[in-house]
Amino acid sequence: MWKEINNMENKFDNPNSEPVSESEAASEPEEVSDEYTSENMKTDIFDILLEMYNLELENLTDEQRKIFDNYAMVLTRSVIISGNAGHYWKNIIPNSIRKPENGNGYSADVQPDIFFEENKLELAKKLGQVSEFNNLKVDYQSQILEEEGKENIKQVSYNRFLKNDGKVIIEEIVTNYLTEEHNLAFSNLVITDPQASCKLEIGKLLPEGYTLSPSELIGFEQKINSELQRIETVFHRFTLDKYKGTKNSDSEFYHFLNFKKVCYGDVVKKGGALSLFHEIAHAWQQVYRGEHERGNFEKFHSDATIWLAILKNKYEELNSGKMNEDSYEFYFNHIKTELEKLGIEFDPDNFIYDGQALEQGSLILTRFDGSRFVVKCENFPKIMEAYEKCERDAWAHAILMFRYLKKFGINLEPEFKSFDDFRKYIDPCLDSYQKSTESMVEIVGGRVGFLKRKK
Ligand SMILES: [Zn+2]
Repeated sequence: MWKEINNMENKFDNPNSEPVSESEAASEPEEVSDEYTSENMKTDIFDILLEMYNLELENLTDEQRKIFDNYAMVLTRSVIISGNAGHYWKNIIPNSIRKPENGNGYSADVQPDIFFEENKLELAKKLGQVSEFNNLKVDYQSQILEEEGKENIKQVSYNRFLKNDGKVIIEEIVTNYLTEEHNLAFSNLVITDPQASCKLEIGKLLPEGYTLSPSELIGFEQKINSELQRIETVFHRFTLDKYKGTKNSDSEFYHFLNFKKVCYGDVVKKGGALSLFHEIAHAWQQVYRGEHERGNFEKFHSDATIWLAILKNKYEELNSGKMNEDSYEFYFNHIKTELEKLGIEFDPDNFIYDGQALEQGSLILTRFDGSRFVVKCENFPKIMEAYEKCERDAWAHAILMFRYLKKFGINLEPEFKSFDDFRKYIDPCLDSYQKSTESMVEIVGGRVGFLKRKK
């Protein structure tokens, strides 16, 4: 009943499959929008600032006027570069290794507004700590401000951290909406390279509709409801006082598809900004393609193993006499149909893995509880190949974004001096996907591959 699955080995052990290569990271998009380069921008920002600070230009002394002009210029430049960086990102995806297929390309768009400076000023006024707040030479964490609304409590805080002795400044405003059962956290990050006199508003780099959040403030678990035979998501509730800012956060960076969020851990550490950009690249991939390759892999694994676990349970009941053959057949047929939808075939008498000899190309799936199953699946190489390509693309795009910003003198990872430094950071990440996929799926006689292992 097995179909032959050919060339499994070749697909997963491609000798050309190097870690993100220099050429992958060198295919730049050609066009960048000029939407943010207009002279009007400067005048607009001038007006916004005057209003925000409640100032009248004619009442300023020459010295104050100079400071104000300078600040307005920095901000104008920052808005232009942040906006263009968003457009740049939008234009990277069509140059990917894994190109958009469904014709959806270019429907993706950049964020329309800037939020950060207004929020920051509002917060500074409320805290009454404007001078400490504005001293960019020290780490700073504000107290938490709370506002009671009709349906929730709104909490806001501001954090600032220096990276590499102040070569880079990372600012973070976090807003957390608390209800009785849940919380909903949003944030914005501004990264400043003081030498470039420019701030990069990370929120502007996301696709339209996306928001940032600290990973620590988002928590959920996938629980199996065995009665209903389905997986349910249970959310936790975090208050803002638990969050000490991005610095030293040990939470992961990830792209949260269902909530259109890019979630981050420690952006301050070496490589933190690169990891953040990697996840932003995934967000752009998502808006272009409407699918999520890592998610496809994980869903394949979790759907397959949950059905196989139920079948194993019924199989054991049958063998111990707790279930009759007719009932078993009913379950068996239902589960077989579900697995066929995933492109999975299995031998009804040999689907539980117990160290037995297996045919080349068989897949061994390991469930989180350690139970193991043997199946065959023709679709699997495609799922894996897509997953691998989109990971490599996302790293390559993160590097492209660094290069783009460097043209404006902005260097967010001063410790990365050469392409090799980037690679030294990225390789272990690819290696960790390798380990994690291997712990979920093994291919008999083949290898699930992200990294070429040099022999
Ligand atoms: Zn990734």
